[in-house]
Amino acid sequence: MAETTGRTAIWGILADPIHHVKTPQALNALMEEHGVDGVMIPFHVGSGGLDSLVAGLRSMHNLKGFVVTVPHKTAIVDLCDEVSEQAQAIGAVNTVRREDDGSLVGEMLDGAGFVAGLRQGGVEPRERSVYLAGAGGAANAIAFALAQAGVSRLTVANRTRSKSEDLRQRLAKHYPAVSVEIGSPDPSGHEIVVNATSLGLREGDPLPLDVNGLSSSQVVAEIIMQPETTALLAAAKERGCRTHPGRPMLTCQLELMAKFMRMIP
Ligand code: NDP
Repeated sequence: MAETTGRTAIWGILADPIHHVKTPQALNALMEEHGVDGVMIPFHVGSGGLDSLVAGLRSMHNLKGFVVTVPHKTAIVDLCDEVSEQAQAIGAVNTVRREDDGSLVGEMLDGAGFVAGLRQGGVEPRERSVYLAGAGGAANAIAFALAQAGVSRLTVANRTRSKSEDLRQRLAKHYPAVSVEIGSPDPSGHEIVVNATSLGLREGDPLPLDVNGLSSSQVVAEIIMQPETTALLAAAKERGCRTHPGRPMLTCQLELMAKFMRMIP
C-alpha cells in the first residue's frame, strides 16, 4: 500500500463478515494505477451498529464514499439522503458517495456492472428478448438494469414464484414499455439467457434452467464467477451457444463504483 499523508482520501467497505471481501485490494490497486492519494479500508460493522457508524461517517471530511455489502444493502437505503430512482425501486444500495456537505448519495451498481460486462463482451441487450433465471438480490438489480438498457421482453423464472411476481410488478410499474412475463424453466424463444441464481457455485448443484431449451442462436450469460465454466455454461457450449462468464460483471462494476464515488475521473 502507498504511504498515507495528511491529505489521503478515505473510502470504506461496510460488511459483516468482512474477512472475505476483495474490493479494497482491487480498488486500492486501481487508485495506485491512477496516482490517487487515497485508500480503501474494510469497516467491519454488524446490523446493530450500522446507523451510528453511518452517522459518524457523515462528519468525516476525508471520507469520500463507501461500498456496502452483505447484510447492509437494504438497510442503507433509508440512511442515505438521496438514492437513485432505480435503487429505490430495487430496494437496495451498494455504493455511497459522501458529498462535501456530509450528505450521502446512494446507488445500486450490480445490474449496471452486469450490463456493462455484457456490452464489453460484444453483446448489446437493447431490443433483445431476455430470459432471467432468479429473483434474488442480484437478479433484481440485473432485471432493472436490463429494462433500463431497453430490452424488448424480459421473462423472469424463479423457484419461489411470489418473488418473480413481485419483481414483475415493480418492473412493470417503472418500465411500462418492457414486456415482463413469468417464465417456466424452459428458456427457448429468448435471444439472451441469464443465470442470476446462486446455482452453479457448488459442485453437484442442479442446473438453474432446462438446458434442452437452449439453441445455438442464443447467448448464455452467468453471474457465478467461480467456477469460471459452470455446468450451465458447459451445457450451453455443447449446444453451440455463445457464452458469457460471470467475472466481467464484477470488473465492470468496480470501475463504475470507483467513478460513482469520485475515486477516479
Ligand atoms: P440471493 O440469495 O438473493 O438469491 C439467490 C437466488 O438463487 C434466488 O433466486 C433463489 O431462488 C435461487 N436459488 C438458490 N438456491 C436454489 C435452488 N436450490 N433451486 C432453485 N433456485 C435457487 O443471492 P444473490 O442474488 O445476492 O446472489 C446470487 C449469486 O450471484 C451469488 O451466488 C453470487 O455468486 C452471484 N453474484 C455475482 C456477482 C458478480 O459480480 N459476478 C455479483 C453478485 C452476486 P429462491 O428465491 O426461490 O430462493
